[in-house]
Amino acid sequence: MNTPRCHARVIAGLVGCTALVLAVTTTGAAQAHGRDAARQTLASRDGWASATTGTTGGAAATHDRVYTVTTWAEFKAALAVSGTAPRIIKVEGTLDADGADCSEFAVPGYDFDQYLADYDPAVWGYEEDLEGEKATAGTQEYLRNQSAAAQAKAIKAAVPANTTIIGAGRGAGIVGGSLQINGVDNVIVRGLTLESPLDCFPQWDPTDGDTGNWNSEYDAAVVYNATHVWLDHNTFTDGDHPDSTLPSYYGRVFQQHDGELDVVRGADYVTASWNVFEDHDKTFMIGNSDSAGATDEGKLRVTLHHNLFRNLVERAPRVRFGQVDAYNNSYVAGADHSYSFGIGFKSQLFAEKNSFTLPKGVGASTVLHRWNDSPLTAQGNVVNGRQTDLIGAYNAANPTTPLASGAGWKPVLRTQVDPAKAVSRVVGRGAGADRLR
Ligand code: CA
Ligand code: CA
Repeated sequence: MNTPRCHARVIAGLVGCTALVLAVTTTGAAQAHGRDAARQTLASRDGWASATTGTTGGAAATHDRVYTVTTWAEFKAALAVSGTAPRIIKVEGTLDADGADCSEFAVPGYDFDQYLADYDPAVWGYEEDLEGEKATAGTQEYLRNQSAAAQAKAIKAAVPANTTIIGAGRGAGIVGGSLQINGVDNVIVRGLTLESPLDCFPQWDPTDGDTGNWNSEYDAAVVYNATHVWLDHNTFTDGDHPDSTLPSYYGRVFQQHDGELDVVRGADYVTASWNVFEDHDKTFMIGNSDSAGATDEGKLRVTLHHNLFRNLVERAPRVRFGQVDAYNNSYVAGADHSYSFGIGFKSQLFAEKNSFTLPKGVGASTVLHRWNDSPLTAQGNVVNGRQTDLIGAYNAANPTTPLASGAGWKPVLRTQVDPAKAVSRVVGRGAGADRLR
């Protein structure tokens, strides 16, 4: 029941939910559409997505542009309806984006056993050829690529401007799909469980690392060169297919996952609130290349608040370029924890009043990882319930590659900020797809 209308009740204690509804209405969040979550807009000052024109998604859709979908085909049809007038798509139940199994996408002649035989390192080796050509080449690689294109076409869904996509009822979500919020403005995604796509056709790259790697495409959601995007109360998960269930070939994990969420290539004004990101390796990337300054410099402004990051390996998120405000997020690390915040090229992370729960034997120095020496601000954070200087902890463990303090900016687009020690409880009971209603 921790809707945005009510969650402050948890913090304020004495303030009733009814009073909050009135307060929020007067500040413009729910507007004239009452309690219908599909008609909600992002509240004023709620993170970077509230900047400039704000984020209204499809809230103002006329009745003929409100669609309820129960299959992936219906969902894609609703997205494809022409025009950029506001639209609302209500997702009922689980949409299966990737069909029964991978054979649906394989083109004639593609044979995985033959692929494995052709590119076995004992046969193919690990080096690039003399021309520096593509790492793998030949018939099976060509057919793999064709098959991958068929899968991409099936599982990618392009989200148009001025759209709200919202789960209708418990258990609403998408399995194996990839939401492409690409080159558009004003999108809201709420109340969906998004189970990571499985790439049916990972590519073997013998030149990746010393002993090669299997690389995959497809994030559950991508914000690419898009603006004013509010991702709220979603659950991003590997579901029934965690990496631990994946096979190995050539001694390397047959990695079929990419990220849970990417915000890249000039994307700007994004707020991610009350989501769960769980059970994944490389989870959340803001900026995907150090050489993307032409599109990313001055952009990639993202606010993360009241998200639960649970049982992840790394990138929660990894940041390049952006002024990223991360406050009041709860991190619950598992045995595979590597790091949480990746400090990347020209990143400007402001991390305040987050809560980290680390397992025994894992130190506070692992919260941060330095990819580049970009200064950040980290203050008021707690690790296992104790106030902790994250930069100090990192620097004590990494004296030759220290991180500097001072992100160089101060977030102002915030609504309710909770005490750090309340965060794990407040987020634990408020975050995720099924907590929207
Ligand atoms: Ca399926
Ligand atoms: Ca990706």
